[in-house]
Amino acid sequence: MIWYPYQQLKTMADPYLITDAQGVYLHTPDRKLIDSVSSWWSVIHGYKHPELNRAIIGQVEKFSHVMLGGLTHQPALRLAEKLRQFLPGDLDHPFFSDSGSVAVEVALKMALQYYMNRGESQRTLILALEHAYHGDTFKTMEAGDDEDYHFVLQAYGPSPHVVHIPTTIPALEEAFRRYHHQFNCLLVEPLLQGAGGMRMYDVAFLHRARELCDQYDVLLIFDEVATGFGRTGHRFVADLVLPDILVLGKALTGGYIGHAATVANQKVFDGFYDDSPHHALMHGPTFMGNALACCAALKSIELFETQDYMAKIRRIEAITRREMAGFSHPLVKEVRILGGCVCLEVHDARSLAGYQQFAYERGVFSRPFLNCLYAMVPYIITEEELVTVLTTMKDWFART
Ligand SMILES: *Cc1c(COP(=O)(O)O)cnc(C)c1O
Repeated sequence: MIWYPYQQLKTMADPYLITDAQGVYLHTPDRKLIDSVSSWWSVIHGYKHPELNRAIIGQVEKFSHVMLGGLTHQPALRLAEKLRQFLPGDLDHPFFSDSGSVAVEVALKMALQYYMNRGESQRTLILALEHAYHGDTFKTMEAGDDEDYHFVLQAYGPSPHVVHIPTTIPALEEAFRRYHHQFNCLLVEPLLQGAGGMRMYDVAFLHRARELCDQYDVLLIFDEVATGFGRTGHRFVADLVLPDILVLGKALTGGYIGHAATVANQKVFDGFYDDSPHHALMHGPTFMGNALACCAALKSIELFETQDYMAKIRRIEAITRREMAGFSHPLVKEVRILGGCVCLEVHDARSLAGYQQFAYERGVFSRPFLNCLYAMVPYIITEEELVTVLTTMKDWFART
């Protein structure tokens, strides 16, 4: 049998079989479901988008993939140039890889080696956040703070290479006071911590983080795998506070093909760019810069820019605030809304048991996790469809 993700295969409910998908809809053999999760937050333009389809088909007819070792190609060169224009500041140097986890690994490797290349071998510590999620590979589990991985803690003990703090300025200042000479980076999911429970925090924390990173010469890494491309109501949180390394994934290709980018600024890039072969970045995923993924990403960014996606996201946020205004229920601890993300946090995760099937019967696909009933819809959703998603969430509580 297939290993399905994050689940006890023996007791899990059967997954829904998808036979077709178009716009915001997933088709099962007997129903049409609005995807309120955008296939793990990535399908921002919806499914079977004619222009994205054409972009990929056009490239398939030339070549689907060639490696970037010793070779290059126009889709990768054009995407690098597009990202250079599209991203803020001097985030000009993308390293491509095939998933968000790998892209975070690359960012952490860059941060460590940046200082090793300068002979600062004591900078082995990562500063990260409580409840952080940065992926499922070993170093990202270590930098993350996810209860699901406590078996790793049991096996190896707490990591001596990571310091975790809450998202408060005093905790941030204290960590820098104690460890600043050992930190190579501060790694954060900016403004919105997704898989750790849809936790939202203030931009003042990030401004202070930038100041402290400058003061102590520590690299600031934004993992915008989830928040990038408008999800928080900003194109990138990096538009508000500029990191040294920006990690993009998920929506980078409009959710069409797994691909990611670790984008370094000039300072980080210059820390590797010299005559010593020992100062090179030793990383090279087989499918980095895949031509189909690059073509999908180029078209996705073009749609994002030319069809004023930021206005679509503001509209989603406004409708969500309107529909959630005045909503409360004893089972619900808090309603949180930021850009294209809404989360109803419940006191007890058990009060969400059965929601997925309830939503299915109302034509909505949802996948609650932890204490979170949330939606991150495709940006092309209509008002009526969005209201259906939000009403389904509220009705679940009204029924009990
Ligand atoms: C999803 C996610 C990742 C991991 O991306 P994959 O493509 O699943 O490896 C990393 N960081 C954040 C913030 C994410 O939301």
